[in-house]
Amino acid sequence: MDGVPDLQGLLARQQQAVKRHGTPDLKERQAALDGLARLVRRHQGDLISAVNADFGNRARQETELGELMPLLNGIRHVRRHLKGWMRPRRRVAGLAFQPASARVEYQPLGVVGILSPWNYPLFLTLGPLVDALAAGNRVMIKPSELAPRTGDLLRTLLGSLFPEDRVAVVTGGAEVAAAFSRLSFDHLVFTGSTRVGQAVMQAAADNLTPVTLELGGKSPVLIMPDYPLDKAARTIAMGKFFNAGQTCVAPDYVLVPRDRMENFAQILMRRVEAMYPTISGNPDYTSIITDRHHARLLAMVDEARARVVRHRDAGDTARRLFPPTLLIDPPTDSMAMREEIFGPVLPILPYDRVEDALAFINDRPKPLALYCYSDDSNRVTEVLNGTRSGGVTVNATMLHVGQEDLPFGGVGESGTGAYHGHEGFVRLSHARAVLRMGRFNQSHLVAAPYGRLTGWITR
Ligand code: NAD
Repeated sequence: MDGVPDLQGLLARQQQAVKRHGTPDLKERQAALDGLARLVRRHQGDLISAVNADFGNRARQETELGELMPLLNGIRHVRRHLKGWMRPRRRVAGLAFQPASARVEYQPLGVVGILSPWNYPLFLTLGPLVDALAAGNRVMIKPSELAPRTGDLLRTLLGSLFPEDRVAVVTGGAEVAAAFSRLSFDHLVFTGSTRVGQAVMQAAADNLTPVTLELGGKSPVLIMPDYPLDKAARTIAMGKFFNAGQTCVAPDYVLVPRDRMENFAQILMRRVEAMYPTISGNPDYTSIITDRHHARLLAMVDEARARVVRHRDAGDTARRLFPPTLLIDPPTDSMAMREEIFGPVLPILPYDRVEDALAFINDRPKPLALYCYSDDSNRVTEVLNGTRSGGVTVNATMLHVGQEDLPFGGVGESGTGAYHGHEGFVRLSHARAVLRMGRFNQSHLVAAPYGRLTGWITR
């Protein structure tokens, strides 16, 4: 499909197929999920190479850990529970309406659109697809133009597994994405920036298309006074510099007790240098996706008016290898503290009292993730009750996203609606209320003339 794809025609064919084929049963859905898992396993090497080529460099293990493992685990989980999730749920019909039975039935929505970003181009495209197929939908996908090799490969592979009226991938630039968001889908799942998310929601509103928006934001890390710094540094370094920080749930800034801040910065950089002894030519260290994104990070560090703790290797601009960089206490009006960083730059900020740190977090938009380090359960409860965020990992970073049995999503500016596992199935289904009157039901007696009901209705 070269040039501008015929999106309307494709949508019409999928809508026709919805009408013609009705609701797919359990077996059909399981077969689709099994086929997808087999396809991913069989073409694992090609998928990893395509992602690597799109980034310039991305370690095979990062694609396995950050994309293929959660994807395949997610498929296994859905596959195991789908039968139970599809079963109608009995509810209680009101006493005054008896004899009657009530239940909720989960029906497919119809055609679901998926708009995905470049940073995890496999997991964030195929993850929503898993939930959409589990819920019995047909799906149109538009992957990011910034990961074109992965997008093309997904189009070829999914095209070999599914007829295009079941699952179709369209590729193209932002203009295709904008046209895609204007289609009258039964649901649209968008993963990307808050700015584009707003445009997508506005376009969807014209069709009253419900949206799930998986957006970004500044996810804080709060190290409590009791927690060992070297232990915290390990998982913060892993979460922040995995994929060179180009992760929606990457730690965006760290709040540390004031008297421990300097020490923490030193410990963290030592840890980072142990993980990545070099940056240039290191196969484990991921490139920044484009020159424009690389230049933005350079500008961010220049503008920060903060002391900088740099990795001993200055990186390689030509290969977009941006070195891990710590910013010590940058002003809150600096670019690094106003915008989502989305790269290997980490501001470290001091706090005096835990209440101040919580107030700092709460003065900003609700983040996608929050990380809290403490072994004191009262302190952890205080943080959990005193903040809002899409998700939380306590004493590590990012790992809540890989839990198949937990919903994944943002809140407020970091997104609306959650998916993964059961929540994904429910999100992309219609929970239909069904009330069935019993044979001897007398509800037909409740009608005008109302005079005879006086004094009876609210008895
Ligand atoms: P982006 O918003 O620039 O692009 C995302 C998708 O939107 C792409 O497929 C693009 O083609 C499409 N798009 C571009 N312009 C459009 C328009 N006018 N109308 C409709 N669609 C349009 O985001 P990105 O740069 O690809 O990804 C980075 C952002 O995504 C970060 O903010 C990150 O935090 C966020 N993100 C969130 C999650 C999550 O699950 N919450 C996951 C990954 C990334």
